[in-house]
Formats: sequence, C-alpha cells, structure tokens
Amino acid sequence: LNEFDIIQKYFSRLTQPRNDVVVGIGDDCALLIPDAGKLLAVSTDTLVAGRHFLADVDPEALGHKSLAVNLSDLAAMGAEPCWVSLALTLPGVNEYWLEKFSQGFAALAQKHHLQLIGGDITKGPLSITITVHGQVEPEKALHRSGAKAGNLVCVTGKLGEASLALKNILENDFVADQLRNELEWPQPRVEIGLALQGLATACIDVSDGLVSDLGHICAASDCKAIIKKNAIPAPDADMTQKQYIQTVLSGGDDYELCFTLPAERENELQRIITNTGIPITPIGYITDGRGIEIVDSSGAVLDLSDHTGYMHFS
Ligand code: ADP
Ligand code: MG
Repeated sequence: LNEFDIIQKYFSRLTQPRNDVVVGIGDDCALLIPDAGKLLAVSTDTLVAGRHFLADVDPEALGHKSLAVNLSDLAAMGAEPCWVSLALTLPGVNEYWLEKFSQGFAALAQKHHLQLIGGDITKGPLSITITVHGQVEPEKALHRSGAKAGNLVCVTGKLGEASLALKNILENDFVADQLRNELEWPQPRVEIGLALQGLATACIDVSDGLVSDLGHICAASDCKAIIKKNAIPAPDADMTQKQYIQTVLSGGDDYELCFTLPAERENELQRIITNTGIPITPIGYITDGRGIEIVDSSGAVLDLSDHTGYMHFS
C-alpha cells in the first residue's frame, strides 16, 4: 500500500460527513463553513512513541487517546468540537495497526460529531500529530486568566490514576483493568467544558499534573490557590508523601478539568454532575498572591519545590 491507498482504505470515509464541510479529505485543503459570530478554537498535540506512549500499546487505545488528549484542550476552552486533521508518521505499513488505530480514533470522533477533514502521512519513527478545531461564542470561551480571589477551585474525576497505572506497568506490577483504562482510554470532558460556559471563571485541562496546570491558571490570573490535600480526589492506594506528590500532584496524563468559579454558584455544579455522571470536587479556593499552596490536615504546607510537572526540555 502507498500513502494514497492508506488514506483511501483507512481514513477517507472514517467519520460521518458534517453539513459545514464543503471539501474534506481529497483536495489540497479542507474547506469549512464556520458558524457566523463564533470563534474558531484550534489546538494541536503530538504523541511520540517512547515518550507519550509505549510502542507496543494497543493501537485501538492509541487511536482513541491521540484524539482524546486533543479534545481535552477543546473541553478546557469550553469549545464544541467540529473538525479534526491527522498527521501520521509511520515506520512502515502495518495493516493490523492501521485498522485498529483508525477504529479507536473513529469511535471517539463519532461520539463528539467530529469530521476527519484531512491530514498527512509520512515515513519515520512512529508519531501522531492531531489538530482539532472547535467553535465557541466569544464571551463564553473559558480562558486561564479569569480566576478571582474568593473563587472555588474544582476538579473533575480523580487525579493520579493514569500516572499510577503507568508506574505499575513500568515496574511490572499488577495493574487492574480499571486503572489501565484511565491511562489508555482517557475520556475528554467535553460536555463538562460546554456546561461550564458562563459559570467557570478560568479553566485548564490537567495533562501535566495539578501543581503545574493549576499553576498556569494562577499565573495567568495573577492570583494564588490554596488547596486542601484531603479534598483532592485520588486513587485508593497506599502512597508515601513523595509518591503522592509524584503521582497525584504532578503525575500527568489525567485529562480532567481544573476550573474556578464564584463560591456562591457552587450549587450549580450538581446539575452538571447529574447530567454527565462525572464527579466534580471542590478542592480549595483562590486568594490574592502567587503560586499554589497544598495544605494537609495538620495545616502543614507541602514542599513542592522539586515537582514542576513534566517538561520535555529543562
Ligand atoms: P498533499 O500532497 O496536497 O499534501 P496528501 O497526498 O498529503 O496531499 O494528502 C491527500 C489528501 O488526503 C489531502 O486531502 C489530505 O488532507 C488527506 N490526508 C492525508 N493523510 C491523511 C490522514 N492521515 N488522515 C486523513 N486525511 C489525510
Ligand atoms: Mg501531504
């Protein structure tokens, strides 16, 4: 198979057509009709074999996760997913891999009414670059910069499960299926992001760990977060303080949302929890100042100085 055959066989009819796509796969560019008055929300993420995933991971899970991590960025912006492009670098043509990868990708795309509108295929070390395009009304986008003193800080789901699963896999420990799923099949919180429009004052997706990502909200909003350690939803596992910090606070790969909202509107979260079935937990509040403080039940502040989240270059 050459690359045109691959596109034809695995990608050209992978997702349902949308009315707002005039030209999809097959020409030099896709041509799209954005909704009048909305902003385009565009985000790209690359996953590199050996760095973002183990080369022998289930290709169906990889197809899902590559798209999920991109959708997580749209969710964090409060944007509605619309279109996606897929650039694949493959070491060779493995039809089993292409079949499974495209199935995992397509199932998640269909769930969010995304159309695959183009991409690229090149030869080289396995790597996947996806660009998602969403739309959002200008006043409703969830920026990182809107947190205010007195706001509550909340997170969706649990933090640290994906990181704990990876640690167990790398150490050849037993990994329960539920925990492995958190690592390999993350569910982007798109519905929650949309429901937070007009409610959250700031939002980010937790991909590099809570300390790092909530830190971005604090920096962009010029404020400080005080977080109660006991309130953070975490895996039910025995961990030393160091492991806890590495896994729950700076492990990464959670793809949950962390957001702030006015304290008096906390009661509005219940409807979102009921509609989505995803827990949302208040973990602390915003004050004037800089950075993040995580306080344990005795009132002691955790020392986070060695834990900055994952960085590619440092
Ligand atoms: P060009 O040479 O103009 O860059 P390509 O040969 O790379 O075109 O791609 C041909 C068509 O197939 C284009 O419309 C492109 O967007 C689409 N395409 C290429 N790779 C993929 C892919 N992995 N998934 C979806 N569409 C793809
Ligand atoms: Mg090309």
